[in-house]
Amino acid sequence: MRSPGIQRWRKAAVAVQAALVVGLPFVRLGGESALRFDVPTFRLFFFGATLAAGEYFILLVGSLLFLLGVITVTLVFGRVWCGWLCPQTALMEIVDIVKGALSVGGKAPSASGYARRAVYHLFLAALALLVSVNLTWYFVSPYEMLPGLMRGEVGRLTVWCVGVFWAALMLQFELLGRRFCATICPYAKMQDVLMDSHSLTIGFDTSRRDDCMGCDLCVRACPTGIDIKAGPQVQCVGCARCIDACVKVKSRKGGTSLVGYMFGTPTGRFRDALTFKSIALTAVIAGVGVLTAAVYSGSPDVEVSAVRLSGAACRVAPDGGRVAPYRLELANRGGADVSLSLSVSGMDGAILAAPENPVTVAGNGRRTMAVFVKAPAGVTGKTPVRIVISATDPKSGAAAEARTSFFCP
Ligand code: SF4
Ligand code: SF4
Repeated sequence: MRSPGIQRWRKAAVAVQAALVVGLPFVRLGGESALRFDVPTFRLFFFGATLAAGEYFILLVGSLLFLLGVITVTLVFGRVWCGWLCPQTALMEIVDIVKGALSVGGKAPSASGYARRAVYHLFLAALALLVSVNLTWYFVSPYEMLPGLMRGEVGRLTVWCVGVFWAALMLQFELLGRRFCATICPYAKMQDVLMDSHSLTIGFDTSRRDDCMGCDLCVRACPTGIDIKAGPQVQCVGCARCIDACVKVKSRKGGTSLVGYMFGTPTGRFRDALTFKSIALTAVIAGVGVLTAAVYSGSPDVEVSAVRLSGAACRVAPDGGRVAPYRLELANRGGADVSLSLSVSGMDGAILAAPENPVTVAGNGRRTMAVFVKAPAGVTGKTPVRIVISATDPKSGAAAEARTSFFCP
């Protein structure tokens, strides 16, 4: 059973997490936010990669891997997420510090108590606003939002995001508090099912029950009011305050804590939690992750798709050739602009006509246009002919092609 002074490490973890969450939208990779979902273009910027709507299978695989990762971590480390990494826990820690400093809560307040309560509620509103703006940066780049704010221009998406986040956070701060963990959080409800008898938990050493002084400091330290001596409970958020409380009181008498982290039992070891289930899950995550990364990194930076516009009539040119219209979509997943030369192959004498050729596609950009393929005179077009429309940037070497068919009766 390990029982060092834990709260200072938890506070350090909260500080690191806050710095990461606030700072990440300001980190730019390939000219874009390190992590942001761009609502107008439905693109996800993910640490230098750009996922467009057509590539969401990566997102799906990523979400499944994340879910498997959560299951594996819970299986081995129990509620470590709740106690150390959950943003809800981190925010409630900050709220608790301010609440304690202002001595809010408890009995009917005096005149100065009312003033402190007012300051406390103003603090909650301000904290909710700050967090809402921070969360909105994951949808609207701070490099757009902040200059816009300076000019007094706030986009509708910004207002909507900040408003929704702010309302949800105020509901959380003012009404739910830590009850959220025990009543609403789906992960908390799943944990009983996911954990097994070797998972890391915070528990009371029942074999030393006689050493317990019955001071109940562990109960009073608990933010959710649990008596850890009665065994693990769903309301436990893994904050470890009960451990520090018991360490403090027992060390005064030269004893050791009766409450602490344990892998199943007080004598349990980390290796006990490395069961077949947890090892197999880790292997599956690593295997699928490596495979997905290989598939994604092997796909070209430029993509082209061509669709024959079936509703639009093809026509016969003055020289007897036949002209069919296509909808061409060009996507550039790289960070730098490309200049793509368009051409058609697969049919002798075929010509491709586009409103511009070469076509410039901005880094992480997309272009859609109507193009025409002209078959030489003599081709009736009654039988579909397989053709290939190619897009090539000779400078960067980026290239892609789309297979389609020429049909123009
Ligand atoms: S703080 Fe420790 S000694 Fe006091 S009641 Fe809790 S477990 Fe017993
Ligand atoms: S029993 Fe209470 S104090 Fe102990 S870890 Fe759980 S929530 Fe925190």
